[in-house]
Amino acid sequence: MRRKNTPGARNLAKERLKELFIQASEIYTENEQAAHKHVGVARRLAMRFNLRIPKEFKRAFCKHCYHYLKQGKNVRVRRTEKGIVYTCLDCNKHMRYTIKITSKD
Ligand SMILES: [Zn+2]
Repeated sequence: MRRKNTPGARNLAKERLKELFIQASEIYTENEQAAHKHVGVARRLAMRFNLRIPKEFKRAFCKHCYHYLKQGKNVRVRRTEKGIVYTCLDCNKHMRYTIKITSKD
């Protein structure tokens, strides 16, 4: 059977993508390695279907080692004046995110 990249399959993949991240967060405390594997599966799924990782999960994994990041466990979050810095404690690399400042003039 050939895999078709139909819109239906794509929607299914989107749902699966969300599930994978939710499951990863649930199993992290029991089994870190399994959570990391979930991220790997989710990434491959996203690539196959050309999907974007939903923004609520974008920061849920390290973009360097693709480990699942659990706040208070393997990630350190620091606020600087330029934004937020996430430090992955598994590979010790940083990810920077800028905060959108809505200025009231
Ligand atoms: Zn990392």
